Amino acid sequence: MAGEAIRVLDDKCVGCTLCVKACPFDAVAMIEVEGAAGAKKRRLARIDLARCTLCGACVTACKFDAIEMTEKAAAPAADLGAYRNVWVFAEQHDGEIQSIAYELLGEGRKLADALGAELWAVLLGAEIAGKASELTARGAQRVLVADRPELAYFQDEPYAAVLADMARRHRPAVLLCGATTVGRSLVARVAVALNTGLTADCTGLAIDPATKDLLQTRPAFGGNIMATIVCPHTRPQMATVRHKVMKEAVADPARQGRVVAEEIAEALLKSRTRRLRFVPEVETTVNIAEADIIVSGGRGLQKPENFAVIRELAEVLGAGVGASRAAVDAGWIPYSHQVGQTGKTVCPKVYFACGISGQIQHLAGMSSADVIVAINKDPEAPIFRVATYGVVGDLLKIVPLLSATLRRSLGK
Ligand SMILES: Cc1cc2nc3c(=O)[nH]c(=O)nc-3n(C[C@H](O)[C@H](O)[C@H](O)COP(=O)(O)OP(=O)(O)OC[C@H]3O[C@@H](n4cnc5c(N)ncnc54)[C@H](O)[C@@H]3O)c2cc1C
Repeated sequence: MAGEAIRVLDDKCVGCTLCVKACPFDAVAMIEVEGAAGAKKRRLARIDLARCTLCGACVTACKFDAIEMTEKAAAPAADLGAYRNVWVFAEQHDGEIQSIAYELLGEGRKLADALGAELWAVLLGAEIAGKASELTARGAQRVLVADRPELAYFQDEPYAAVLADMARRHRPAVLLCGATTVGRSLVARVAVALNTGLTADCTGLAIDPATKDLLQTRPAFGGNIMATIVCPHTRPQMATVRHKVMKEAVADPARQGRVVAEEIAEALLKSRTRRLRFVPEVETTVNIAEADIIVSGGRGLQKPENFAVIRELAEVLGAGVGASRAAVDAGWIPYSHQVGQTGKTVCPKVYFACGISGQIQHLAGMSSADVIVAINKDPEAPIFRVATYGVVGDLLKIVPLLSATLRRSLGK
């Protein structure tokens, strides 16, 4: 098998069949091989390269180091030009497509136009095909649907195997996925299976006009610099994007696209885990990831009890309660309320920053809000550089006044 991407080292193979059992694609078999003169026949593993996907399962399974991936497996894809189109993984929960998919379609459209390519969506689920029109309405020109009972809810192994298999067959140039709990777990596996690169938590995506490579920008070194990452030697170029960082593609039900039912091999649907039950997080307040208005408090509140003024304003406005990391680290409010680089990215219509200085890591999570209102006693606080409206003064006096005035004018 010289010159191939994977090979069996005959001198090490003992014919134990572990590799045959490990291969999900029935690509490994045992054959009888004549021994040297006088020696008896040996059973040796042979790999059917037409079936092999280079997933590496046999390499891991072999206890005798008798199967190896060669440099060719890691070599640059022979023909990068054969990879076309921009793909968006359309995440769904209980059959409902998540809004992150629409955000990725909005961004994917720009990338596809810059490449002169098509925008495709990939939808995995059970009895899900009817939802594909929601993706074509948002601009997907083709939707690849894997509709199987085994894909009803997210499971790492079958989802990753199915997505990787589709990517091998259809060769997308770019594959985008939400930086959600599901997305992060899924695409890391897919990138490994495809032997390509992956940039997590991108805040900006663009196409290099000269090379046509995907420029993947994300904060680095604690948010102090923005790094632009390229993946020039392998395809697809894979990136995750956080919820609310990109604008949603606007739905137009008149838009048409092709919906293609994909054939899924049984072997791809195997999973060593299964979900016993699903326990939803109990939210007592408005979820800040979805809120139109957010009132956030920071260290300027001075003590946990003072979060009461933030909660009161939020209650008057029907808003979510956010917080800076300083407030969370101090134990004043749970982490699920943290806004910023290591918290949630939010994009409300109005964001109130009360007693928050506006460090870059906080801004990374909220600066795309339509209107920012900052209340801070320090006129030099960096938050005022991004604020639409700024109030210099003591929040413990201003916020209760604001709540009382709004309560009156809203007739509450
Ligand atoms: C890797 C990394 C990741 C991070 N991720 C995040 C993140 O996700 N989210 C995040 O928020 N931070 C994050 N941080 C921390 C960030 O750098 C800041 O330390 C943090 O945002 C500061 O929070 P703060 O603005 O509440 O506190 P401070 O910076 O201490 O600011 C308090 C502000 O309150 C004002 N103030 C005080 N008293 C009053 C008053 N009575 N009335 C009005 N104003 C008052 C002060 O003038 C000051 O501007 C991260 C840091 C690192 C290194």
